[in-house]
Amino acid sequence: MTHIPVQSLLVETRCTVREAMIQMDSTARGILLLVNAKGRLLRTITDGDLRRAALVAPPELQTLAVLPEIEPITTDSSSDHADVLALMNRHEVDHIPIVDVSQKPIDVIVRREITKKTWLSTPHLGDEEIAFVDQAFKTNWIAPLGPHVDAFESELASLVGIGHAAAVSSGTAAIHLGLILLDVRPDDTVFCSSLTFVGSTNPILYCGAHPVLIDSEPQSWNMSPTALEQAFIWAKKENRLPKCVIIVNLYGQSADMDALVPICEKYGVPILEDAAESLGATYKARNSGTFGRIAVYSFNGNKIITTSGGGMLVSDDASLVTRARKLSTQAREPAKHYEHTEVGFNYRMSNVLAGIGRGQLKVLAARVQARRAVFERYRSALHDIPDVQWMPEPAGSQSTRWLSCFILTGEHAHLRSQKIMAHLERHNIEARPVWKPMHLQPLFRTSPYFSHASQEDVSARLFDAGICVPSGSNMSAANQDEVIARLRDALKVWSA
Ligand SMILES: *Cc1c(COP(=O)(O)O)cnc(C)c1O
Repeated sequence: MTHIPVQSLLVETRCTVREAMIQMDSTARGILLLVNAKGRLLRTITDGDLRRAALVAPPELQTLAVLPEIEPITTDSSSDHADVLALMNRHEVDHIPIVDVSQKPIDVIVRREITKKTWLSTPHLGDEEIAFVDQAFKTNWIAPLGPHVDAFESELASLVGIGHAAAVSSGTAAIHLGLILLDVRPDDTVFCSSLTFVGSTNPILYCGAHPVLIDSEPQSWNMSPTALEQAFIWAKKENRLPKCVIIVNLYGQSADMDALVPICEKYGVPILEDAAESLGATYKARNSGTFGRIAVYSFNGNKIITTSGGGMLVSDDASLVTRARKLSTQAREPAKHYEHTEVGFNYRMSNVLAGIGRGQLKVLAARVQARRAVFERYRSALHDIPDVQWMPEPAGSQSTRWLSCFILTGEHAHLRSQKIMAHLERHNIEARPVWKPMHLQPLFRTSPYFSHASQEDVSARLFDAGICVPSGSNMSAANQDEVIARLRDALKVWSA
């Protein structure tokens, strides 16, 4: 395998100063690498080096041989950002080439890149959050409960078009409460999408119940209707029909509800919709999170809108939501002396955080648009690269593109995806594999698993070959261009 990322920066001694200036300009990385005929690095060349040479004689009349020999400062690919930064500071340089064992350059690290990390997904505040929080402070309403909590609940419910909502401390807490509301007890069975974050499945264990994990289908990356049907046939035979099915909407996209809901209805099993990642998405013009008996949203710091940490349980059934509120406040009976008849939890959202949430709700539509634009920018900028398959968006489904994800097709996809993520990491760009499915997690090794087809483990393949790249609604165009450039370098080198 060759390493092309630096190819465009390489120059040889016979090149004129003028040619080098043009190349420096077109590559726009502030550096060129002078190599000998064998490709060994001789020295680095900066803009200043070329300008100084041009002062001595016309740049088209002299070659790079006029530049003095300087031992280049280099490192190898095993060094981390702290090492590279220390090296830059020690030698007062802003670029460090990475060389292989034969001193051939394989990459260049730029100071700007390692001092400013590009994250996968960061909080993006609007203009009104601070006013809501301020109001909470001014009225000394810092406690859990309070006017912002009530308003946040009703504003979210009307935004997504559902009857009732209960604001809680996290999405995970909302799922836990949802399972209790659906009467999940020790030794019960709960079906759940395998391709998800552990926040979907941990609450099953909190209840002492047993998860049965369901594969994804390739069209939406979400729960496979055929795998779900197989799981139901098995469960019926084993006389352990689930108390509920947790359907996860991955990376901002709804599962195929028209196929999944009738299967659950046929067996009379309620759906708990995990819409933690899909607030703002629609499926056949209906909001994600309105398909289950109960649904949950998350406002964790990395989600499309955030309260720093928080969640919401929603349902059209008022009695379920009333009970969720009670369970989330230690299950107090309506008595002055704190009467208790059942186990409760301290899961309620605070009034301060609900204030942030109210501000964030106002910008949700803009955040969805911005994330979709980020995704489209990646897709169009890299459309010429073969063996990249962006997460599909089935007809009738509108994803928020909470995270922009793709899979590599072709041979050795796993190895290549690891190399590509390592390359991005070197340039201080956060990239992650697609979620590691729960059926591959040691924690769930004994849980039954139903794959999409007998020879096709879709979620395992998506994990193996899938990469999520920075997707924040607050990414600048320049920042995204950098990610695209580094991604393009890496995808070219590690193509199938
Ligand atoms: C984030 C997330 C959760 C958990 O939400 P928290 O607010 O972090 O507890 C659950 N399920 C999925 C799919 C998630 O992405």
